[in-house]
Order: sequence, then structure tokens, then C-alpha cells
Amino acid sequence: MDFELTEEQVMFRDMARKFAEQEILPTLIQNEREEKFDTRLIKKMGKAGLLAPHLPQEYGGLGLDYITAAVIWEQLCYASIAVTQAATSGPIQPGTNLLDAGSEEQKKKWLPGVCSGDTIFSGAVVEPNAGSDSTRIETMAVRDGNNWVLNGNKIFISNGYEADLILVVAQTDKSKGAKGLASFLVEKDTPGYSATMQLGRISWRGGSEGALRFNDCVIPLENQVSEAGRGLRDALRGIDTARLLLSIGAVGMCQCCLDACIKYGKERVQFGKPLGGHQLVQGTIAEMATKIEAARLLTYRVADLKTRGIRHIKEMSYAKYFATEAALWITAEAVKLHGSFGTFDEYPVGHHYQDAITLTILGGTSNIHQLTIGQQLLEMPAFTG
Ligand SMILES: Cc1cc2nc3c(=O)[nH]c(=O)nc-3n(C[C@H](O)[C@H](O)[C@H](O)COP(=O)(O)OP(=O)(O)OC[C@H]3O[C@@H](n4cnc5c(N)ncnc54)[C@H](O)[C@@H]3O)c2cc1C
Repeated sequence: MDFELTEEQVMFRDMARKFAEQEILPTLIQNEREEKFDTRLIKKMGKAGLLAPHLPQEYGGLGLDYITAAVIWEQLCYASIAVTQAATSGPIQPGTNLLDAGSEEQKKKWLPGVCSGDTIFSGAVVEPNAGSDSTRIETMAVRDGNNWVLNGNKIFISNGYEADLILVVAQTDKSKGAKGLASFLVEKDTPGYSATMQLGRISWRGGSEGALRFNDCVIPLENQVSEAGRGLRDALRGIDTARLLLSIGAVGMCQCCLDACIKYGKERVQFGKPLGGHQLVQGTIAEMATKIEAARLLTYRVADLKTRGIRHIKEMSYAKYFATEAALWITAEAVKLHGSFGTFDEYPVGHHYQDAITLTILGGTSNIHQLTIGQQLLEMPAFTG
């Protein structure tokens, strides 16, 4: 086991931190106040070569391993997890899904635009009545000659409003449950497709979620990506990559909070000495640092397994569950340590605190990851009777 970063990883780490400081931080507070994600960032990230580190070079990515990708994502999330997730969600979730399950023609046609940032790509699984339980998906895909006709609704879709292209998981035969689920590519100009922005969020205000509607939306047969029975399984490959981003993103945001607390703990004087000189504060800082280190190790471990193509279901759940729940605690402690100053969004701890709760929900909720771990260890089904 070698815990040292390679020269290339150090180079990407520094590049990503510089990008975050120059391109994310200057507009972050204002955009969060307006609940706005600036999609121009996607192209900027594409130009800087940071948008799709994990996708192969032949489709426009960098062809890097998942540890290096995680090194990049940690630094971007040091500035903002919500903005980083919104910017990279196309290459990460539906992008990985299309890479694994798409035909060569589909991959050549779509992935280069997704990697450059010219095509905004969304992955649509969740619906009003199908959240954690995707087997309940109600959006129907009905074959009609040389076409598929889609009808239904999706919600909470990252960049759903802005998307040029959507990878939709839909039901082809209600009686078959998960075995009827397939996936399809829908272009934004397709008649019968529409999207609205979902506003009013208390968290993740720098990101973007949309609600999608398919109303007799007709798409050609060649837009089918996964056959019936594989739609959910294939989508989970993309969601797996999203879970890696969210786990390392939690580490990045917590590292930012820890650094801010150490700085503040040396500067702010109360009861005649710096806050950091009080033992209760030192205890909190120690607890934060230990949790961050544990979350980072769990996450890099799963990035390594993923790179080597080794099965990592429970290891991914360890990382996602631990890192995001730790983030909830760490960001709250970081705000407390900054006192009332911490409750203002000019302090980095404030906006990381706001985002932390959402981290425990998307990419599988904490309960779902606990169940996944339990199911793996006990070898007993946790989701069915
Ligand atoms: C910022 C953001 C971006 C998103 N992007 C996308 C996207 O791009 N594409 C997409 O398809 N979706 C996306 N989602 C949706 C997200 O994946 C879902 O919100 C998530 O899977 C949870 O589903 P739900 O909200 O319906 O909650 P529910 O499934 O209704 O869960 C509600 C509560 O019940 C608990 N619960 C559920 N089942 C069980 C059980 N068996 N045992 C114990 N507890 C249980 C959950 O843990 C949770 O606490 C996004 C969400 C957010 C917030």
C-alpha cells in the first residue's frame, strides 16, 4: 500500500485547487443567494481538462484512474460540493452509464460533447413515487413500430432544466417490475418533452435540479441504451461513480471547514487566550481531523477497488455513509466554532454546513447505505421480504 500521491496526481490536485479558487469561489456566494448554477462553468471545466477525468481519452475524457479523479474532485469540492456536482454530474452519472451500456455509435456520438462541456447530460431515474425504491418507476416506454413512446415524470434531476440530453430509465412492462426497466436517450428538442427548474431549496443552492415531463414523447429505436431488465442495473454503474464523487466531496468540504477552524482558532481570542488554546476546542478539532482522515482513507480505498475493477458494493457504502454523516457533524461543529460569524455565508463553514444535509440524501440515503452494508454482511435481503 502506497499512500503517497504520484507527481501527476499532485499536478492535478494543484490544478483543481487553482480552478476552484479562480472559477468557483468568486461567484459562489452571489449564486447561492440567487439559487443559481452558472452552466458556463461546465464548459470552462471541460476546457481546463477537469470535467471528465475518469472517461476514456477516445471519447474525450482524460482516461485517468479513479484515485486521480478523486484527488481532483476533493479539491473542487473544497470550494463547493453543490457546484462541483452540478458541473460534473453529466460525465459522472449518465456519462459512466452510457460508457458501460451504450453502443459504440451512441458513445462516439454523445460522449465527446459531454466531456468537452458542449452537451449538458442528465441521468433521470427518480420520480415522485419512486425515490430510493427505483423498482416502482412509473414512466412508461411503449414500443410503436420503429419508435418508443415515453410518458411520465421525473424529479430532482441534476441539470434537468438545462439538459441537452437525458438518459431516462423507464418501464417497458409493469408486470415485470425491475425486469421491465430499460433506458433511453432523449434530446431536449424532442416534441412531448419539457422541463422546469425546482427552486426553493434550503441546501445545495449552488446546484441545479429540474422536474422533467414526457408526454407522448416519441424517440427512435436507436435511442435505446439498456435493454429491458438492465435499465436499473446499468444506471447503478453511473450512480456508483456519483457516490465516489459525493464521498470525496464530503472530505473536501470538511477539510475546508477544518482549515478554517484551525485558522480561526488561532486568531479569535476569548477568555484571555485564542479559542484553540481551550481544551474543549482542541478536542473538537481533533475529532474533526480524525473523522476526515478516516473518510478519506475509506474513499481512496474504494477508488482503488473501482479502478482495479474489483467488486466494492459494501466498501462504497462504507465510504458514502461514513463520509457524508461525518460531514453533517463536522460542518455543524465548524459553524459553532465560528460563533455568530459562522452563520453568515461569507464564511466558508456556512455554505458547507448548508450543503451537508443534501449529501446524506442523493446518491442513496444514509439508511439505504446502512441497509446495503447490512445485507452484504448478513447475506440476507434488506429491501425485499
Ligand atoms: C441535489 C440532488 C440531486 C439529485 N440528482 C438526481 C439525478 O440527477 N437523477 C436522479 O434520478 N435523481 C436525483 N436526485 C434524487 C435522489 O437520488 C433521491 O432524492 C434519493 O434517492 C432519495 O429518494 P427520495 O428523495 O424519494 O426519498 P425516499 O426514498 O422517499 O426516502 C425518504 C426517507 O425514507 C428513508 N427510507 C426509504 N426506504 C427505506 C427503507 N427501506 N428503510 C429505511 N429507511 C428508508 C430514506 O432513507 C429517507 O430518509 C437528486 C437529489 C438531490 C437532492
